[in-house]
Amino acid sequence: MNQSPILLMAPLYGPTQQALESRYTVHRLWEAPDAGALLASLADGCRVVVTTGGKGIDAATMAKLPKLELVACFGVGVDAIDLEYCRKRGIAVTNTPDVLTDEVADLALALLLATVRRIPYGDRFVREGKWLKGGMPLTQSLGGRKVGIVGLGRIGSAIAKRCESFGTTIGWYGPRPKPGVKWQHFGDVVELARWADVLIAACPGGPATHRIVSRAALEALGPDGIFVNIARGSVVDQDAMVELLGNGKLGSAGLDVFDDEPNVPQALIGMENVVLQPHMGSGTHPTRTEMGRLVLENVAAWTEGKPLVTQVS
Ligand code: NAP
Repeated sequence: MNQSPILLMAPLYGPTQQALESRYTVHRLWEAPDAGALLASLADGCRVVVTTGGKGIDAATMAKLPKLELVACFGVGVDAIDLEYCRKRGIAVTNTPDVLTDEVADLALALLLATVRRIPYGDRFVREGKWLKGGMPLTQSLGGRKVGIVGLGRIGSAIAKRCESFGTTIGWYGPRPKPGVKWQHFGDVVELARWADVLIAACPGGPATHRIVSRAALEALGPDGIFVNIARGSVVDQDAMVELLGNGKLGSAGLDVFDDEPNVPQALIGMENVVLQPHMGSGTHPTRTEMGRLVLENVAAWTEGKPLVTQVS
């Protein structure tokens, strides 16, 4: 048995954290009065770090843990983990794929429908008594529109299937062609956005996708276009998006993710053509429970010298 004190970078889903702390010696970095002193005290023994997709871990922190062998991430997106550094040092990284796919895809559709049919606006319209004075203005519709998906992986494909059942046509952009995929592939994001009525980002974050939904792509989507982001704030040019939503050159947006969460630009908060969520794609009890199960299984596999369950390649 390969026991090691575990460094926990950020709070986890409650039951997962309780299970982890009941089985291992866990040190909570965010509660340490002196993080540097905690890291120094763990330098000789810590072989496992558990973190979240949002928190990740940088190279400077890992450099202070020379015995580190495993970073187990609660989340599928590992863009906040310095993967290049892990690769060089031979540190294994695990994540929590598949178990959250349907949940995140559901939220993408919820955001899309809420944006197109202006559901938060309608809700306020009723609560504020405006209905008593007259009907709510009519909205756009989803059926028959063209949906472009940036990143046709597990979540992107689940979104595409759901969108099809709403009578939309699907196109997609990804770096590699996918033989066997029936939906139209586009050579770049701007081309996809020009064709689409709705653009949904479902790709990973990180350097390769930084601002991949550019100002040009948002302008190509246009005044009637709808942008949905359940990927990462970094994948879109947020400043351009805010400006174009404000001046009517981009129609509307449904956003679960942002640069610098939990800070959301004040301008977005004041906009009626935007539906906002606080990064809730996988945020349900059943899905967080499953994500936690995978984290615990990966840590247990490492402890017992068995193959990791969901290692990031
Ligand atoms: P996945 O199965 O690995 O899919 C990612 C897809 O993105 C793959 O199809 C990949 O292409 C494609 N891709 C890679 N680089 C790209 C690029 N430069 N441009 C466009 N597409 C690119 O991962 P997943 O499970 O679907 O998760 C996708 C992402 O969703 C995560 O990384 C995370 O950032 C985000 N997410 C958000 C939430 C939330 O709460 N909002 C929750 C979970 C995940 P190939 O197939 O060719 O490799």
